[in-house]
Amino acid sequence: MTTPSTPAAPSGEPGFEPTDAADLVVVGAGIVGLAHALEAAQRGLRVTVLERDRRAVGASIRNFGHVCATAQAGPALDYALFARERWLRLAEKAGFSVQETGTLVVARTPAEQAVLEEFAAERGGDQVRLLTAAGARGLFRLATEEVVGGAHLPLDVRLDPRIAVPALADWLAGQGVQFGWGVHVGGIEPGLVHTAYGPVRAERVVCASGHDVDRLFPRVADEHGVRRCRLHMLEVAPPGGVEIAPAVLTGTSMLRYGGLAAQPSAAAVRAELAAATPELLEVDMNLMLTQRPDGSIVLGDTHHYERTHLPFDEESVTDLVLREGARLLEGELTVRRRWRGIYAHSPLTDFLVAEPHPGTRVVSVTSGIGMTTALGLAPTVLDHLF
Ligand SMILES: Cc1cc2nc3c(=O)[nH]c(=O)nc-3n(C[C@H](O)[C@H](O)[C@H](O)COP(=O)(O)OP(=O)(O)OC[C@H]3O[C@@H](n4cnc5c(N)ncnc54)[C@H](O)[C@@H]3O)c2cc1C
Repeated sequence: MTTPSTPAAPSGEPGFEPTDAADLVVVGAGIVGLAHALEAAQRGLRVTVLERDRRAVGASIRNFGHVCATAQAGPALDYALFARERWLRLAEKAGFSVQETGTLVVARTPAEQAVLEEFAAERGGDQVRLLTAAGARGLFRLATEEVVGGAHLPLDVRLDPRIAVPALADWLAGQGVQFGWGVHVGGIEPGLVHTAYGPVRAERVVCASGHDVDRLFPRVADEHGVRRCRLHMLEVAPPGGVEIAPAVLTGTSMLRYGGLAAQPSAAAVRAELAAATPELLEVDMNLMLTQRPDGSIVLGDTHHYERTHLPFDEESVTDLVLREGARLLEGELTVRRRWRGIYAHSPLTDFLVAEPHPGTRVVSVTSGIGMTTALGLAPTVLDHLF
């Protein structure tokens, strides 16, 4: 199978004829918008999706495609486990691949292994399988001498977002969801969505505009302290053509995901990182990787938070990702692609769901886990909206 290096263009034609026929208008064709369109269509509702670009180019195609379910906690875990099943079913229907390879969390210090042991004790062997150093190397043949152990999280899955997200949109179009590609929405008021092609009547609207919550609903963004989280991402050639089936997380990931960060030894991991490599904490690194169908390794990431970012990316931050990636993969890395990812972040909530006026919901996954959770969040939102 050939693998596109860039997302497929949507099959829809340019131009848009506003109709008043929809029960639900969704703004944004990223995974959050598509999740709501899917859920509404499955409930027998007529759905129109309005997307300002001619194809999805936002966070939903810039990510690792890691459905990182197990490491979540609280509502995120519930959404994630529901979403996992939905991804698997959608893959069959919409014709894209989901790899049931799980996640490998690599431990490179005893404190990191202690976090995994605590996590395994809490969740049990069905969700968390502890590994020795040899076991971790069995799953990840490039693991260096540094590796002291790890854990395999077998429930997690991964997919290629550049393939899966356009495929999902195409499939929804085939199911009767109307898409307006290249249709900018300039305002939403009760019963009416203002587009560059004219007004669209809509009793109910889900605004899933990703990190641009503040463009249409600045007060909602202000109330939730929403900022844009900017991530440095790389795609590198696989050293020696290596195949790495699971998604790979590391010690820095233990500070990020709720289920791992809640373990008592996570504080020791943070202290170790602060002493040994404080520069990783300064850029809020989550060193992780997934492999694409063509073998390329998606490597990242870092996190910087601002309402408005300057357009200049610091090469030193990319160098840090590359340095840590080379350390993890034990070898010089050749960069094939680099890009900036942006998602909405709120210090107050992981899932922003607001009702600026009756009939409208503003929905944004404000915690960087939309691929993992959006398909599980959407049913809850629609239960309240309808
Ligand atoms: C680099 C990176 C790596 C990540 N890795 C993972 C991962 O491995 N696993 C995971 O679970 N999550 C991951 N995430 C998070 C995940 O990608 C996001 O949570 C998710 O994609 C957000 O989806 P969205 O639909 O809200 O946003 P987007 O995909 O950005 O979509 C929003 C859409 O709304 C459209 N839009 C905005 N305003 C308007 C308007 N006025 N009119 C019309 N259209 C509009 C935009 O054009 C855009 O297409 C990652 C994010 C990034 C950036």
